Amino acid sequence: MIDFTRKTGLPPEQEGYARRVAALAREIYGETPKACVVTFGCQQNVSDSERIKGILIAMGYRLTENQQEAHFILFNTCAVREHAEDRVYGNIGRTKLIKQENPKKIVAVCGCMAQRQSVADKIKNSYPYVDLVFGTQGRHRLPEWIYSRLAGGGRRFELGMEDGVPENLPVARDGKLRGWLPIMYGCDNFCTYCIVPYVRGRERSRTSAAILDEAREMIAAGFKEITLLGQNVNSYGKGLEEDINFAELLRRVCAIEGDFRVRFMTSHPKDCTKELIDVIRDNPKISRHLHLPFQSGSDRILKQMNRRYTRARYLELIAYVKEQIPDVALTSDVIVGFPGETYEDFAQTLSLIREVRFDSLFTFIYSPREGTPAAALPDPVSREEKGKWFDELLRTQEVIGKENIRRRIGTTCRVLCDGKATAEGWLSGHTPGTAVAEFEGEESLIGQFVEVELTGFDNAYQGKVIEQ
Ligand code: SF4
Repeated sequence: MIDFTRKTGLPPEQEGYARRVAALAREIYGETPKACVVTFGCQQNVSDSERIKGILIAMGYRLTENQQEAHFILFNTCAVREHAEDRVYGNIGRTKLIKQENPKKIVAVCGCMAQRQSVADKIKNSYPYVDLVFGTQGRHRLPEWIYSRLAGGGRRFELGMEDGVPENLPVARDGKLRGWLPIMYGCDNFCTYCIVPYVRGRERSRTSAAILDEAREMIAAGFKEITLLGQNVNSYGKGLEEDINFAELLRRVCAIEGDFRVRFMTSHPKDCTKELIDVIRDNPKISRHLHLPFQSGSDRILKQMNRRYTRARYLELIAYVKEQIPDVALTSDVIVGFPGETYEDFAQTLSLIREVRFDSLFTFIYSPREGTPAAALPDPVSREEKGKWFDELLRTQEVIGKENIRRRIGTTCRVLCDGKATAEGWLSGHTPGTAVAEFEGEESLIGQFVEVELTGFDNAYQGKVIEQ
């Protein structure tokens, strides 16, 4: 369900185009135009799509999830894995029929994958029914681009990277309780396996005033959980005129009045400070969860990955986190089979997992991304062998995950109740960590924080309400 919670306006020149799109689209289609936005990939893309949907609504479009009935279809794409790219091409291919039935409909592709010149060229040459391609930036110019195409202009390929962050764009958020709040865009880290710095550009932080205004609007609109988003939130503030870091931003968000919870992602261990951990410890509004991607337990591989921290530094940080926030939920990302990784390196990853005892892991077998330094490295280990290592890792984490679940049974935690569970009379919500908890209760609890004692686990925690 779409909740249009924020509409403070497009740039002045784009507002003129938006009004013209509204009039022209209605005339061409003979009805209120509909738009369908299909999102692939990470939370950053989900958040970008919410802003694109806001702009589409400002142009008079109604949102739909049905591509057949849409007059504007947009694929917001992800470039992180090859498999994701194949799915996007499959989806684009299926719009050919839709365009044959009504050539006046507009098909567009944007996001990380579209930002790559080779992809834009492929779409230009092999998918002639795609009208508009743009990358990860410039979406505030969507009214101009759509107007141009509706008025009979040619196909557009807009891959320019812009400095700064356009503010005050309309946003149509997907949820009503839990929402994304981007605090920065891009990344300066150039991990050797990662395409993000090439497709999302250098780090650009939003001003704290813009972030705090948006957080206040979300809280006033009833949001109970705000996730601050960025590729590397720990380096927030770099390049801003104001003297502020991420820890201070968190303090200021928590100082906003209201009953709400704050999460953030993603953190980079090299920029994660004890100050940040102390801020989490001291602010009950911040979720007791830290997602700190370690990627590999081997110093040799971390160096090859250009991660710029060591295994010892990572473990030291984790020890401090556990000491200061004993009930913390720890999650991480890990890559298996980086080029040149040996079983000895992989064994270091396993031992780090055993030492830290994560609640859950996002696990990936290394997938080469064209244009990244790692893609050019020799990679002698077969996919089959990497698959065996990967299975070993999953088995290791499964045991640890189950032990962590058992350890939490009998404890109480503050759950944000966000809907009905499948069983009659049961509700569902999110714990301060990453887990789902189900419990019996009145539907009036939906949208509230409730204190829940965790009593068991069956795909999700089972619990009982202690206090509302
Ligand atoms: S920190 Fe590394 S992995 Fe994360 S987005 Fe930046 S380059 Fe990619």
